[in-house]
Amino acid sequence: MTTLPRTASGERAAALLPQLTAWRRHLHANPELGFHEHQTSAYIAAELAKFPHLIVTRPSETSVLAVLKGGKPGQTVLLRADIDALPITEENSFEFVSQNKGVMHACGHDGHTSMLLGVAKLLSESPEEVNGEIRMIFQHAEEIGPGGAEELVQNTSLMDGVDVVTGLHLASQLPTGVVAVKPGAFMAAPDSFQITIRGKGGHAAHPEQAIDPIAIGAQVVTNLQHIVSRNVSAIDNLVVSVTYFQAGTTHNVIPDTAELMGTVRSFDPELRARAPGLLERVIKGVAEAHGATYTFQYDMGYRPLINTDWVANKLMDIAKAEVGENAQLAQPSMGGEDFSAYLTKAPGAYFNVGSGNELLESDYPHHHPRFTLDEESLVTGVRMLHAAALELGKPS
Ligand SMILES: [Zn+2]
Ligand SMILES: [Zn+2]
Repeated sequence: MTTLPRTASGERAAALLPQLTAWRRHLHANPELGFHEHQTSAYIAAELAKFPHLIVTRPSETSVLAVLKGGKPGQTVLLRADIDALPITEENSFEFVSQNKGVMHACGHDGHTSMLLGVAKLLSESPEEVNGEIRMIFQHAEEIGPGGAEELVQNTSLMDGVDVVTGLHLASQLPTGVVAVKPGAFMAAPDSFQITIRGKGGHAAHPEQAIDPIAIGAQVVTNLQHIVSRNVSAIDNLVVSVTYFQAGTTHNVIPDTAELMGTVRSFDPELRARAPGLLERVIKGVAEAHGATYTFQYDMGYRPLINTDWVANKLMDIAKAEVGENAQLAQPSMGGEDFSAYLTKAPGAYFNVGSGNELLESDYPHHHPRFTLDEESLVTGVRMLHAAALELGKPS
């Protein structure tokens, strides 16, 4: 058991635990998918309306913005929480299990929302201690491209005048209480692709009269793996995963087509730009060698999330002050995050707060039907975001 440093943010956050838990459980029981967070955003706005000094607006149909003008001059700081859930059927059995069948908070966004409500409450209780302006955005649709962040950045004035932005993701793979921060490349660009191999169907007993898209598709899958191992330097980070292969209807018919889908993950913009060409060269070569044709579609996902060094370093200092030796250097992740959209407009950094606890079985991976949170992690998140708002708001 590590003893945490005693700080004002820490003590105020700890006292909020029952309220944070109540918010999180309400949200967990009532999940909504991205772009459909109508009840969720109404609930957030109603809770924010209970706090003094906040200006609460709705920048888009299902997002909520709370602004607190501090009593002292300083920077404009944006804090972000995402609020959407996933199309997953929950397999947990606790009393606040999802009431919206087939939809589940399986990524921890219920926790993120609860934490930002907590920060709004703490900041609104003593605006005189706040520098500058703190904007708190409860962002819709992180899980569905093109993402809520992009919409807010492109279509609203949310980022106008913002000096620095931060936010966090809970991480079930890290123990509760850990805060992990990393300067530079933190999360990958999650691109996706679809391939159709078009052969010639026929009788399974006479493959010589057919062009078998299954055999060709299998070779495409194998050869795509060579891109990472043989076309890209081991120093660069690239992932190519084929995640879907669909063909055929029965045992004695060679089908006409095979459908494949997958994902490509990268950090480096140049490597990312090269990836579609590298994939297509393989697909074209294999298909043509066997007399098949193909269609290939490549979709760019969110930008890679590259933390601004000075912001990440400052967050690391805050983490050391708040959680002592639980402050860690984060590992980069091949997962994607639309937080990267905010970083096109202002410097900033995203970080992780551990929520994994074996005893509470809160160490299932994110997006798993049994994913859940150790609610103690909410306190860590609030103390970090509250301290960050106060620190980053100070005049530069
Ligand atoms: Zn997720
Ligand atoms: Zn998430």
